[in-house]
Amino acid sequence: YAKNSGKNAYRLFTHSMQEDARKRFTLDNNLRRALERKEFVLHYQPQIDLRSGAICGAEALIRWIHPELGLISPADFIPVAEDTGMIVAIGEWVLREACHELRRWHDAGHGVRMSINLSGRQLSEEGLVASVLAIVDDSGIDARWLELELTESMLMDASASVIDKLHTLKRAGIALAIDDFGTGYSSMSYLKTFPVSALKIDRSFVRDLPHSTEDAAITKAIIAIARSLKMETVAEGIETLEQGEFLRASGCDKAQGYHYGKPMPAAQMRELLMRREQETAEPALPCDA
Ligand code: C2E
Ligand code: MG
Ligand code: MG
Ligand code: MG
Repeated sequence: YAKNSGKNAYRLFTHSMQEDARKRFTLDNNLRRALERKEFVLHYQPQIDLRSGAICGAEALIRWIHPELGLISPADFIPVAEDTGMIVAIGEWVLREACHELRRWHDAGHGVRMSINLSGRQLSEEGLVASVLAIVDDSGIDARWLELELTESMLMDASASVIDKLHTLKRAGIALAIDDFGTGYSSMSYLKTFPVSALKIDRSFVRDLPHSTEDAAITKAIIAIARSLKMETVAEGIETLEQGEFLRASGCDKAQGYHYGKPMPAAQMRELLMRREQETAEPALPCDA
């Protein structure tokens, strides 16, 4: 740390380090009890079919409502849960909760899909496939309405047993998507090794659309690769009408972002699905969620 930045800066630095350590310790300890105390909730963010403008699915995103610290973002506790191994139990809860919510949507007549994030640690668990299939079975949904999101790094160091699990999930009808595509340590070779059905274009490539010529070229290239490999594309982080229009014109299949709706509690998502069902298929309107 810079010597000449003075005593105050140094104090600030150590203070924030202690703060970090304290926070991490608190999180680690509390994560264990959070499941039993039912402090986790899932929020759902709509995914839009860019051709019809209809809601075609949602991504389940976990939140932790901590009794003292309030709402904690997954970016702050998922890495801790991965380190401690708690992600396995938390991830199973997410699968169960999301599949049961999807069952409610289907019972209400909404033909939509559910996307669920999977962590690398879950994928290396021996019992993952059995657990996913049991949850799908219990919830009474058709596996074809389920999509699991993986990251590039998970595929990069995938063992033979992980590859085998992915093929088994795929054979059961579950779709596999690559999340944050293009930001990881990408290697195109895994696109032919793994049974991938969708690429999620990372929001860092979407942010400066349509003005950035580089990002325009990158997104179009990703869409072209996906097309020729018969995969679908889902763009993340669409915040403006122009971004959505550009992606639709470029042949992107689906979109997700604040422009269409922020992640929201289950009750609000159900209302949104009901409201949108009543509208006829019109071009994508921003949801006022
Ligand atoms: P992700 O899977 O890439 O999820 C998309 C993230 O982008 C979400 O952040 C979402 O709220 C945010 N987002 C969506 N649209 C926009 C937009 O238009 N603008 C901006 N600025 N952001 C947008 P969130 O909910 O904080 O989740 C962060 C990450 O935490 C997720 O990234 C995912 O990697 C992880 N995560 C969330 N839930 C779970 C879970 O149940 N299991 C696991 N293993 N990881 C999860
Ligand atoms: Mg995701
Ligand atoms: Mg993502
Ligand atoms: Mg991510």
